[in-house]
Amino acid sequence: MSKYLDERYSSLAAYVPGEQPQDKKYIKLNTNESPYSPSKATLDAVNVGETELLRLYPDPDGKILTKKLADYYGVESKNVFLANGSDDILNFAFMAYCANGRKSYFADITYGFYSVFANLHNSDYTVIPLEEDFSIDAEKFCGVDGCVFIANPNAPTGLALSLSDVEKIVKSNPHNVVVIDEAYVDFGAESAVKLVDKYENLLVVQTFSKSRSMAGARLGFAIGNEEIIGDLHKLRYSTNPYNINRLTLAAGAATIDSQDYYDSNCKIIMETRAFVKEELEKLGFFVLPSKANFIFASSEDIDGGELYLKIKDKGVLIRHFTTERIKNFNRITIGTPEEMQIFIDKVKEILEEN
Ligand SMILES: *Cc1c(COP(=O)(O)O)cnc(C)c1O
Repeated sequence: MSKYLDERYSSLAAYVPGEQPQDKKYIKLNTNESPYSPSKATLDAVNVGETELLRLYPDPDGKILTKKLADYYGVESKNVFLANGSDDILNFAFMAYCANGRKSYFADITYGFYSVFANLHNSDYTVIPLEEDFSIDAEKFCGVDGCVFIANPNAPTGLALSLSDVEKIVKSNPHNVVVIDEAYVDFGAESAVKLVDKYENLLVVQTFSKSRSMAGARLGFAIGNEEIIGDLHKLRYSTNPYNINRLTLAAGAATIDSQDYYDSNCKIIMETRAFVKEELEKLGFFVLPSKANFIFASSEDIDGGELYLKIKDKGVLIRHFTTERIKNFNRITIGTPEEMQIFIDKVKEILEEN
């Protein structure tokens, strides 16, 4: 840290992304990426012609992709906001609705970026603990006096709230924005997008990083009331109007055009998830019922941190968090059936070696 850094950032604890090691080839089950390549249409969209156009700025409004998403989700273009990954949108939401001493609420065990953004923007935030079984009690987020952030399905637990519970929370907080972060919604949960027409305080955030195989392209979007979307545009135009590059815009549009391919990948991932859960349970693991492209599991026979290290040594990366409440768990991304068979085999080996 230099002596020039503004005091209010000197104690900031930055977000720590999952490892992206370059030393050897791992089976990567640690950052919830898709094991499947983008569709042929998506690959074709990132072509030489488009690359030649890199000399020109991209459309700052991403009109073509915005319209495709609006049609796909049954809303208007004015209800859709594009960003450089959904983290970008979460940053804007904290900036817009709960910065400088304004209040925000989120769970104790949830996406790690919420507390980072809350600290970055000096939000007066309250952490609401999950229940004993890691579920969210919707009542505890009802009628609070600040902006609410809920990942649904939640990370790293994978547990999902029902649409009626989400609606209860949104309805009970008319004076504050409720952000529903649906990064994993395509793996079996219910989206709140259909509530956007009904509630002006609802902002639904999604991403192309997980179900649409585009984590490396950085593309997220939000759906909400026209005025909220307008707030986000104002902040975006005040920071970086060209926040999405041309190649990503083209890839994103082709992705929506080939949605069937991505839907069938999600289906395979959900089937593989059921297989992995069953196999781990046979090995004595406790596995939460997940609606995401990962599972969250623990065992009484092996410490979470130990399993993480031992399986890394065998070439498989999973995610371990040192937070007290979940330190015996690991979050395991669902890869291809072949990768997951290797994962299960390695877990067996480790348990036998112990
Ligand atoms: C992965 C993830 C994001 C971030 O996604 P990007 O679009 O890649 O920035 C946001 N929220 C949750 C809960 C996530 O797991």
